[in-house]
Amino acid sequence: MTTRLDVLVIGAGQAGLATAYHLQGHGLRFQVLEAGQRPVGAWPQHYASLKLFSPARHASLPGWPFSGDPERYPTRNEVVAYLEAYAAHFQFPIVTGAEVAQVLPDGEEFRVLSADGRIFCARAVVAATGTFRRPFMPEVPGRETFGGKCCTRWRTRNRRPSWGSGCWWWARETRRCRSRWN
Ligand SMILES: Cc1cc2nc3c(=O)[nH]c(=O)nc-3n(C[C@H](O)[C@H](O)[C@H](O)COP(=O)(O)OP(=O)(O)OC[C@H]3O[C@@H](n4cnc5c(N)ncnc54)[C@H](O)[C@@H]3O)c2cc1C
Repeated sequence: MTTRLDVLVIGAGQAGLATAYHLQGHGLRFQVLEAGQRPVGAWPQHYASLKLFSPARHASLPGWPFSGDPERYPTRNEVVAYLEAYAAHFQFPIVTGAEVAQVLPDGEEFRVLSADGRIFCARAVVAATGTFRRPFMPEVPGRETFGGKCCTRWRTRNRRPSWGSGCWWWARETRRCRSRWN
């Protein structure tokens, strides 16, 4: 059976959820397909001690602010809880465990196929899939002669860096890349 929609959103991270908020506000028929089991984006994959680099009042999604002191810097776990509560609060039509395998143009519409065989037809598709599942390992001059390990956060998320381990850490954050030598 094919589900017909105005808009199909791929990914229920903060971008997908904010998109859902505006689509709902415009009364459009839409669904969000999320590969993971919860509508929380990449946040659970980040290291456990992470705190936001911006205060709560600048980190809220549209229509429903972070609770508590707006000047505090929320932790990773607070962000995860906030995103899940945000999706539940607005009762967005999110299908979890639904990985999109293919998006094909089909006349004036798009035909979207999920990995488990579901078919969706939509007038527009929003790809809010983030970057986290495609880690970026930059080419650094001299890397071929470097004797230590090169790894990204994707592979190393809950491990504490141990000094002297000869590990070079890379993290691509919002608009920048951080590197750290241990
Ligand atoms: C170390 C670190 C610190 C950071 N600190 C901050 C911070 O302080 N403040 C801040 O604002 N940002 C911070 N960021 C950036 C923030 O995590 C990202 O900008 C944010 O997660 C991007 O949201 P998104 O919705 O675009 O993508 P994501 O959060 O990556 O969500 C994408 C979603 O799409 C789903 N998806 C992917 N492919 C498919 C598919 N084929 N089918 C279905 N679903 C799919 C994924 O499962 C995921 O749930 C940090 C990032 C890092 C790495």
